[in-house]
Amino acid sequence: MALKALDIYKMLPKKNCKECGFPTCLTFAMKLAAGKADADACPYLDDATKALLHGATRPPIQLVKLGVGERQVPVGDEIVLFRHEKAFYHPPAILFSVSDLWDRDRIVAAAERVMTETFPRVGENLRFNGLAVRNDSGSAEAFGKAVGVVEEVAEFPEVLVSASAGALEAGLARCGNYRPVIHAATTANHAQIAPLAKRFGCSLVVRAGGLAELAGLAKACADLGVRDLVLDPGASTLGEFLASSTEIRRRAIDRSDPDLGHPVYLDATGFAPEEAAIVTGILKYAGIIVTSVLPQGTAKMALTLRQNIYTDPQKPIQMTPGLYRVGEPGPDSPVLATVNFSLTYFTLLGYLEASRIPCHLLIVDTEGFSVLTAVAAGKFSERLVKDSLDRFQVAGQVNHRSLVIPGYAAPLSGRIEEVTGWKVLVGPRDAADIGEFLEKEWVEKGRAIRAGP
Ligand code: SF4
Repeated sequence: MALKALDIYKMLPKKNCKECGFPTCLTFAMKLAAGKADADACPYLDDATKALLHGATRPPIQLVKLGVGERQVPVGDEIVLFRHEKAFYHPPAILFSVSDLWDRDRIVAAAERVMTETFPRVGENLRFNGLAVRNDSGSAEAFGKAVGVVEEVAEFPEVLVSASAGALEAGLARCGNYRPVIHAATTANHAQIAPLAKRFGCSLVVRAGGLAELAGLAKACADLGVRDLVLDPGASTLGEFLASSTEIRRRAIDRSDPDLGHPVYLDATGFAPEEAAIVTGILKYAGIIVTSVLPQGTAKMALTLRQNIYTDPQKPIQMTPGLYRVGEPGPDSPVLATVNFSLTYFTLLGYLEASRIPCHLLIVDTEGFSVLTAVAAGKFSERLVKDSLDRFQVAGQVNHRSLVIPGYAAPLSGRIEEVTGWKVLVGPRDAADIGEFLEKEWVEKGRAIRAGP
């Protein structure tokens, strides 16, 4: 059970000595309760109290960081069972699986896809996170060589997949300071694998069939000194994975089994169809998902679904406010203002591009609200429009002072004209009519020409 700040405060020595880095014991207790301090910081606590505080104040699911540097991926540290209760915070890392039986070029091609491929979507560049290298050959030498090939290209997280401590050691020797995840410690081999993970400072996946066995194995590896653990429930069907992963999450969140408080691992390549496994992993709590080297269509599906599930449902997806160019606008091209709700932006953008009338699109910061909501809530106002025109120096881009506003913002047209000094044209309510509107109000009046044939 989680402890409240006051309960924690009662356990502290109350010296107010600041050695923990906080001004008072009460502040320290409040930070501990919020999961923003570590009980180890107070040197006056005995081991039993520290253990109790660690268990009660650490996040219900451990945060595990895969890789280092710019491509590091944090997974775990989730606090709810259902997304609508708050949000899911750390999207699963998705890694392509490669084999040490493959030739060098094939491994390099997969690594280069992970390094360079991005899918731009609603203001983000979606990408895969790393590679899992399988020791299919059974040879330590071949495994070390394959990991070496990846290392030449890789600046991203890796998982080394082998049941052999010797092969893993050969792979780890090629990784330098870049610590991969090790897959996997089992009841049969954990006495060899866990010390290896500890020695190389790696995160370790533990794999076992039943949840009791999995929890026991995780505890055994933690007792052997491995700090960062990931759980592979060893499911043989997708249904089994779904049941295990859901139960692990439930027990972790209600803290009924702290040894299950770690991210979950799914190797989607073991299921058919693989797409179903990827979807299940994204929706149902996987922290690391290993896939085959996916074709473009499936790759986009996986990254899009992951992005959708891991956006905050309480926050609309937003565009960055600014002045965007549609086509190749010139000084006589129209200027249209709209909100920064990304669905509005992308819908309008589609119709503007289809109209082939180049224009400047001014996105104002309505905190992600749609036009109707923003106008009703006072988020889209004459003052905001004026500030945005000034901030993005729109006047310097065009040789006119006409601004098209959304149809639903018509009640503000007079005030916008008054405050900005720009002539306001009230656009259509439906974005689908924007092409016809610009044709009449801009092209036919000789203010701009259509682009292209
Ligand atoms: Fe209180 Fe311990 Fe912090 Fe000192 S180090 S202020 S005793 S919590």
